[in-house]
Amino acid sequence: MEPAGEVDLMAGSTILHQHELRMNAFSDQAYICYMYMKILILLFVSSFISLTSFAQGAGTPQQKVVAGRKNSAKQQDKPYIILISADGFRHDYAEMHGADNLLRLSKQGVQAASMIPSFPSKTFPNHYSIVTGLYPAHHGLVSNHFYDPERAEIYSPRNRRQVEDGSWYGGVPLWVLAEQQQMLSASFYWVGSEADINGLHPTYYYRYSEEIPMEERIQTVVNWLNLPEGSRPHLITFYLPEADHAGHRYGPEAPQTRQAVQFIDQSIQQLTAAVAETGLPVNYIFVSDHGMTAVDTAHTLSLPAVIDTSNFIVVEGDVMTTLYAKDTAAVRPTYAALKEAENGFTTYLTNQTPAHWHYNSKEDSTGRVGDILLLADWPSIFSPPDARRVVPGRHGYDPRIVEDMQATFYAWGPAFKEQLQISSFENVHLYPLIAALLELPYQHKIDGRLEVLEKVLKKPLSGKKGKK
Ligand SMILES: [Zn+2]
Repeated sequence: MEPAGEVDLMAGSTILHQHELRMNAFSDQAYICYMYMKILILLFVSSFISLTSFAQGAGTPQQKVVAGRKNSAKQQDKPYIILISADGFRHDYAEMHGADNLLRLSKQGVQAASMIPSFPSKTFPNHYSIVTGLYPAHHGLVSNHFYDPERAEIYSPRNRRQVEDGSWYGGVPLWVLAEQQQMLSASFYWVGSEADINGLHPTYYYRYSEEIPMEERIQTVVNWLNLPEGSRPHLITFYLPEADHAGHRYGPEAPQTRQAVQFIDQSIQQLTAAVAETGLPVNYIFVSDHGMTAVDTAHTLSLPAVIDTSNFIVVEGDVMTTLYAKDTAAVRPTYAALKEAENGFTTYLTNQTPAHWHYNSKEDSTGRVGDILLLADWPSIFSPPDARRVVPGRHGYDPRIVEDMQATFYAWGPAFKEQLQISSFENVHLYPLIAALLELPYQHKIDGRLEVLEKVLKKPLSGKKGKK
């Protein structure tokens, strides 16, 4: 489908900035554009040692299977869930762009007015909030790119070593929760699914690649569901990047974005029709990580000159830029100077951010939230460094203030009530819902609460099986 193209290609060059611990996050396009990564590797092979494993998989990547796992007898009777995310699928896209199949399927089940992303409304933090029930400051993926002071390293979705290293990821993702209880899981992509989180991968998973055709992905899901009961996954994640790619490149209302939404709509139709032939009671949850908004590309903001990079590590972003103090004495005077310089952006000390962000130094479990945040005022964005192109669609703003940031939630299948419309809710509440549906108990603390979404399930749950 729509390639991430220029945007991702250009973003690759920013990886070089890691050497000077200054980085930007302008291209948060879904994950990685495989094709362009290969070109980059050819160009910069010596600089991209950590990425070379990505190049080895020329051709389509093979499914990875963790050997020796079986569903326990108890788990074999549990329901099935396919959790689908369409990256950047704004809460109003289905109506606006005529996703008739999705509207028809979800009208038979549950539709939310919107799903509210966690702050910041970026891809990695939100996909990971959905599967952990934690706000980003609690699970550790505080943005697509962020600095980890303990490791003295910047995390990037383009760094294979980091992406596959479970020690970067906090919380207990749903597939880990399932596997810990001898319930098998499978992933046709999800943030974190390629890492050994708590030592566990999903039983079936893939290294991210946009080269695998949709028909093959759908057939793989069907094949999983046709496996003998002992080997059949009950939780399947599925990810579609097309709406985000097109929304960035052409804007949320562009005909190309409509085409991407139509492609997703047809893919879901094909998936559900093919899965129906298995005869299994499969439940679907269709969500997105965030929305998309048209930004002011004519008057981009420059990074204020008052930032002294000898005192701060700067992780630049299109909507949010984060300063990590090398010398804490510099925080107050720099903050004061930035407040003076505000013109199209707002400056925050991380101990004074809005409470509903849950993004502050007090809740920062990993030290990755930083000391000072610069948030562009919608529809402004910070200008890209180097000569990179400004694209018309962006996300990352406060989803409570910029409604375009809000995401989608639809659910249908035998476990869900029919023709139910619910109001907006925060994405951290999905975790206890899915855990309850699969009857997977857990003891660890999360931010999501079962009572928020329990009402969408048909059967009242006996007790609170999701949480003791
Ligand atoms: Zn994006």
